[in-house]
Order: sequence, then C-alpha cells, then structure tokens
Amino acid sequence: MVNYIIVTGGVISGLGKGITTASIGKILKLHGYKVTAIKIDPYINCDAGTLRPTEHGEVWVTEDGGEIDQDLGHYERFLDVNIPKCQNITTGQVYGAVIDKERNGKYLGKTVQPIPHVTDEIKARIRKPATENGYDFVMVEIGGTVGDYENVLFLEAVRQMKLEGEKVLYVHVTYVPVIGALGEAKTKPTQHSVKLLREIGIQPDFIIARSEKPIDDVRKEKIALFCNISGEDVISDSDIDNVYAVPLLFEDQQLCKKILRKLGRRKEAVDLKAWKTYINRIRTYDQKIKIGIVGKYFDIGAFKLSDSYISVIEAVKHAAWNNKCKPKIEWIDSKLFEQKPAKLKILDGFDGIIVPGGFGLSGIDGKIATIKYVREHNIPYLGLCLGMQLAVVEYARTICGLKGANTTEVDKDTPYPVIDFIPDQVNIIRDSRYGATMRLGSYPANLQKDSLIAKLYKETKVTERHRHRYEVNPKYVETIEQHGLLFTGRSPDGVLMEFMELPTHPYFVGTQAHPEFKSRPMKPAPLFDGLIKAAKKTKA
Ligand code: GLN
Repeated sequence: MVNYIIVTGGVISGLGKGITTASIGKILKLHGYKVTAIKIDPYINCDAGTLRPTEHGEVWVTEDGGEIDQDLGHYERFLDVNIPKCQNITTGQVYGAVIDKERNGKYLGKTVQPIPHVTDEIKARIRKPATENGYDFVMVEIGGTVGDYENVLFLEAVRQMKLEGEKVLYVHVTYVPVIGALGEAKTKPTQHSVKLLREIGIQPDFIIARSEKPIDDVRKEKIALFCNISGEDVISDSDIDNVYAVPLLFEDQQLCKKILRKLGRRKEAVDLKAWKTYINRIRTYDQKIKIGIVGKYFDIGAFKLSDSYISVIEAVKHAAWNNKCKPKIEWIDSKLFEQKPAKLKILDGFDGIIVPGGFGLSGIDGKIATIKYVREHNIPYLGLCLGMQLAVVEYARTICGLKGANTTEVDKDTPYPVIDFIPDQVNIIRDSRYGATMRLGSYPANLQKDSLIAKLYKETKVTERHRHRYEVNPKYVETIEQHGLLFTGRSPDGVLMEFMELPTHPYFVGTQAHPEFKSRPMKPAPLFDGLIKAAKKTKA
C-alpha cells in the first residue's frame, strides 16, 4: 500500500522545501520503508536542460539522462537511491502529452479541459513510480508557493487524489519571520498561506515552520489554532549548521511517528544510529581544507552561487568529511585572472582547486591560466568536464607545442582542435535542436589497471553521468600521451577519453563526466576523495 506525502510551500520561495522533502523521506527510510520522491516544476520548459544555472540553480543529471531541477539531487543524496527522469514533472511535459493525445484522437468527441484532462495526466504521472515499483512512500514536492498561478492545476490534482481514496498526507512548509528589535516570531504570513491552501481545498496535516530560531510552544499553538491543526503537528524547522541534520531535527519532534499514526501504519525497525553518529562526528572535525572553485557563474552576486554548483559543493563536503576535515569552499571568478594575471598567486593559498563544468566563451582564458598555474605549482587539481577539456587544451599548448590549440566550442578555426564536437552533434547544432540532445546520463568507462584513477575507484569498470557536446579529439591522444598526460579511462570501444591524470603531479586529474552527481554522504565520489587526500598531503 502506497502513501503519498505532498509537500507544498508558502509565504516565500527558497525555504529549502527540497531539503525538507528529502529529510522527511530520509526519516521514513530510516524507519525501514521503501521511499522515493517526485519533483513537480510548474514551469513550461519540458526539463531544466535549457535553463541558466544562475537563474534556476544547477541542472541535475539523472542516470537515465534527464536534465532536472536540483531538488532531485537532494533526494538522491538523502535517500541514497537513483531517481529516474520521469520523476520530474513539468507543465511543459504535461501539456505536451495532453496536446499529443488530443491530436491523436485519444479524447475523440470530448472538450479537452484543464480539469479533468490535465489533472488526470498529472495524477497518472504521480502514480506511475509506485505502480511500477511498489513503494511504501512517495514524496511529492510541488515547486513554487501556494498562490502562484502556475501551480494551481498541480494542487488541484493532488487534492483529487485524496478524494479518490488515495492515502495522502499534506505537508505545508512556511516561513515564520523573526522581526527585528522585538525578536518575535510572526505567524501571520503562515496563517495567510494556509488560508490560501484551504481555499483550494487542501487542509494541511503538518506545518513545517522554517525560521531562524526554534518555534516556541506559544507560536506553535497560535499557528495550530488559525490553521486548523493540532499544535503537535506544527514542526519547528530552524536554521541548522548542516542540512544533513534536518532529518534528526524532525525526528526529535517525532515527525515520523506522527506520520505513521495518521496513516495507521506500523512502525518498522528504526535505524537512526549510523546517521546520528555520522552527523555528530562531522561536528568534531576541525582541520580546515581550503578548496577553490574557479568558475564563471558570478555575474549575479554571491548569494546564488551555491545553487549553481550545489552538487560540486556537496561532493567536496562528503569527501572532506570522509577525511575528517572541515571544508572551506571559496569562489574564484576566472575573469579576475584575465584582467589581473598577477592575481594568480592567490591560488597558492588553496589546498586544492576545481574547475567545474561550464558552457560558452566567457571566463575561459582565466580558467586556462588557473590550470597552467596549478599544474606548474603542484597544487592539487580536479577538472570536471569543461575542467578536463581545458586542462587538455592547456597541456597541448604549453607542453606539446601545439600553439593555438583549443576547443572548437571556443575557437572554430583553431589549428589544433584538441577538443571537438562529438560527430553526431554537428547536425543537432546546425538545426538548433538544443533540448535534451547532449551526451547525457550514465556511460561506462574502462580504467587502466594500476592508474591513479583505478586506485581511487578501486575497480576498473565504472560508470559516471555525463552532460556535454564536446570530447577529446582522438587525433591528438597519442601526441598528448607521449608528452606525459595520460588518458587512463576510456569508453569501452576505446574512442572516448573519459579520465585523465598527470603522473608527475601530486594530483592533476580530470574527467569528462560529472562524478559529483553520484557523491553521497558516507559514500564520497572517488575523484573528490582523491582531491581531498592529495590536498591534505600537500598541506602536511
Ligand atoms: N561545454 C562543454 C561541452 O559541451 C563542457 C560541458 C560541461 O562542462 N558539462 O562539452
């Protein structure tokens, strides 16, 4: 028997609804249940692949090649499961499917309407994972805030689910601001938000109150009275030092027990110990490890940066914690080095440098200058996708004597196109078919025995997730390898260069993939783990 837990948001966006959803899922999982999660994004895009990360946050890549909202990343990291792309539902997909069906005569004779045709399509998509895989709980997070035009039909669909006999619980995540000098937590915005939700026909079962400080009992009772629920179903969700501690915050308030009681479900064996120990240990690590992320997504001010690179940041944290360190992550705008090359010296102050994935021309020269500097100064380096491509460009130029070598993404007329299109991409770009057409999702690679990469992975056959159009040009592989930079991981047919390493350097590693998408707490991504280990070693 499946239960749906629907998570909606109120008052303001950016409350960490994704973390809340993932955390509720986590406590259910730790109580022995089989849990998955769905993210609903009310925008008209079919997926997040064509969204700018600075506007919407990182584009998350699934095993099956979906380009998805970053919240799916939170679910995977917290629940330690792989989530397929069909578990991200957007308005674009839903309307696309309904319009296709209408054109194909599936509703022949009927007037096709938002209710019931669009809502039926939404419900079918929400029900699909449990029907196919037999979950105990499906978490369903509805993006945006109650009161937005664009999520009305999704709210209507989940309202109908309960009416149709489905065992559903509604969780509303709101904001309780603490006002200035008085320091008083104000509940009015929450009251208004729940009022809106009830107008739609949804009575929340739980209210998760996000706030700077813990919500006291007086405030809880006030929210309860005005929102028509019991005081014990108002859960305080105050700011905390580590997002992975949120499940424990909920557990302290017995949220799981309360959920199970409302649904009449039995409590299974609880296994919270390992998670608790993990979180408490992290709090004791005090050896700082300073990692610089050199990128170009810096045009909109610092506050959004962590969203653009969230999986890279989380992967650094997981790896640092695995090595009993406290990560200190700093952003470095690669354009700085284009304007003031002397500033490259600041890189000496870092224990490790990452050049993450990226697209387009801006900031490229600064990234190449960074890579040259860390290579020549033995600073541990990890290049992710674009970060590997540019390391190859730099090496070709400086060490292999291929003056003017480049990626054709930057210079179509380069005399040495060491990074070039995957051949099937030529027609795609010519026809402007940009949506979902990159090399996407999980691909296998064979690692060279005894290479550093194979040692880090502890195996020679691995898979990682991809999202790119360009590759190392096979024509130049021999020359580059003869000069010392080795491609120690390749596609099974040997054509695509998936991993590189420079044996003469303490840690100069790159991959065409995005290993950050498979990093999880307690299971760090091997290449990030390697970076931290090397950083610790050079620091000592
Ligand atoms: N822009 C490069 C490509 O398309 C790198 C992409 C990335 O870093 N994900 O191949």
